[in-house]
Amino acid sequence: MKKIVAAALILGLVLFLIPMGFRHEKTREDTDSPAVLPESGKAVTILIDGELREMDLNEYLWGVVAAEMPASFELEALKAQAVAARTYSLNKAGQAANHPEADLCTDHTCCQAWIPRDKAQANWGENAQTYTDKITRAVAETNSQVALYEGALISALYHSSSADTTQDAVAVWGGNVPYLTSVPSPEGEEVPNYHSTVTYTPQECKDRILSAKPEAVLEGDPANWFTNAVYSEGGSVLTMDLGGVTVTGHQARTIFDLRSASFTVEPAPDSVTFQVTGYGHGVGMSQYGANAMAADGKSYQEILQHYYTGITVESYE
Ligand SMILES: [Zn+2]
Repeated sequence: MKKIVAAALILGLVLFLIPMGFRHEKTREDTDSPAVLPESGKAVTILIDGELREMDLNEYLWGVVAAEMPASFELEALKAQAVAARTYSLNKAGQAANHPEADLCTDHTCCQAWIPRDKAQANWGENAQTYTDKITRAVAETNSQVALYEGALISALYHSSSADTTQDAVAVWGGNVPYLTSVPSPEGEEVPNYHSTVTYTPQECKDRILSAKPEAVLEGDPANWFTNAVYSEGGSVLTMDLGGVTVTGHQARTIFDLRSASFTVEPAPDSVTFQVTGYGHGVGMSQYGANAMAADGKSYQEILQHYYTGITVESYE
């Protein structure tokens, strides 16, 4: 009799434990509970609309990922973005000369774009809960993960989309950075405005060139103003002469307000037309390329190691 009682107790215990075990096995995809953003343990001071606000690094990163990458993107792409943004933030914190009082600001031309949670959710409409969870997971599931080169935080630059290949940092800014070298990038026609066209009158072109390079000589047929263009293998302008003055493709992009330095120019007597591919400076991780890689089954680590040559993805203390 005692044996039967013992056996029944054991059976009862086993039956009780099995579902508990299953419950622990469950992944978050199987549950309806919203993803939780963990504390990073590191506070950052952010300059937002002229005011300083202190917040946890992960809370800040949530707003950066939401602002910098479409939430409809693949989860692994969003995770790659979260790691790039975390690395960029820790590397840049307190280094910006524009705002010595703040670690980072919300101006994308200085630091990184950032959007408050309520504003992001209003923009997302009926997808607000799904996208909130997705971005929370991207930050939470990469918690403390950063990209390192020879053990040091990298300058994790990223951009929207590239034309065939990314750019060498040295080609854009003149300084060689070993992990920011040109690599193939798989995005293409799925990118909104992947191809764009900008047309100026010859006078508008002249004004733009002269305001940047007053020594340029611009007379007669506009066809003679654009010479000696040197292209990278991926089709970006490395250098070109504007009225006899050599500029980089990056400078030409700024002068003519183009979406990228991957462009061709078609000068005619009464108009000058630029055909542009991609968007951004082209250095480091391409966001649309990251999404294409994720759709192809690549992990966020693989995406980061593809775009940042020779790095490791590790936990940073
Ligand atoms: Zn800044």
